[in-house]
Amino acid sequence: MRQRLVAGNWKMFGNSARNQLLLEGVAGQAASIGQVSCAVCVPFPYLHQARSILAESGVGWGAQNVSQRTEGAFTGEVSVSMLADFGCRYVIVGHSERRSLFCEGDQLVAVKARAVLEQQMTPIVCIGESLDEREGGMTEAVVSRQLGAVIEEIGTAGLHKSVVAYEPVWAIGTGKTATPEQAQAVHAYLRNVVSEQDADVARDLTMLYGGSVKAANAAALFAMEDIDGGLIGGASLDLNEFMSICKAAVR
Ligand code: PEP
Repeated sequence: MRQRLVAGNWKMFGNSARNQLLLEGVAGQAASIGQVSCAVCVPFPYLHQARSILAESGVGWGAQNVSQRTEGAFTGEVSVSMLADFGCRYVIVGHSERRSLFCEGDQLVAVKARAVLEQQMTPIVCIGESLDEREGGMTEAVVSRQLGAVIEEIGTAGLHKSVVAYEPVWAIGTGKTATPEQAQAVHAYLRNVVSEQDADVARDLTMLYGGSVKAANAAALFAMEDIDGGLIGGASLDLNEFMSICKAAVR
């Protein structure tokens, strides 16, 4: 069964006092939204806070990155078992900011997705093309290469337990959203790519759209057949915006 999901990506924002208000607000309101799962992916230091406030709420929490290694002398890294220890349900892997600013390539992203699955958590695998790639007619080639690397590593069985987030790089944090039709076209293409390997997995795969989603444009995006919810950056830091976006994902 495809899940409707709206996940917030807080990026490197927040502090204890602000988070508390936001998390309590989300916890209080999310229960009233039927059929849609809500989650927040917070910076590592706030996982404990997220767990203590969200534990009984039905809202999931998770991280924005993880090490591909299990443990050892890797100063500054955080392992999948540490995230599992904090009750994380989701881990974002391959966000475009990690790919571009921290040089994470397709293979590393795929290995991280496998590590997340091995701890029974759900990777939210981000893929998406840059503006140059879109303008050069490369969108399909880029997203199928990025997703293909992940399928190569985890198989369609692993993909079945994962979430894919299509996030065109040119739309992230820019205020420039893909039109519902542009986003739907890529989602449908990706579902078709997966279908060529496993039609059941393709049918069940939860695919999120991300890139400047706001309360004002969420409903039109989420009404598209192959868009099952959103990965929300900036707007997830505003309680009213985020809750309106979650509500917009109800079919
Ligand atoms: C993101 O960080 O994944 C994202 C989609 O950001 P924004 O919503 O701010 O564009």
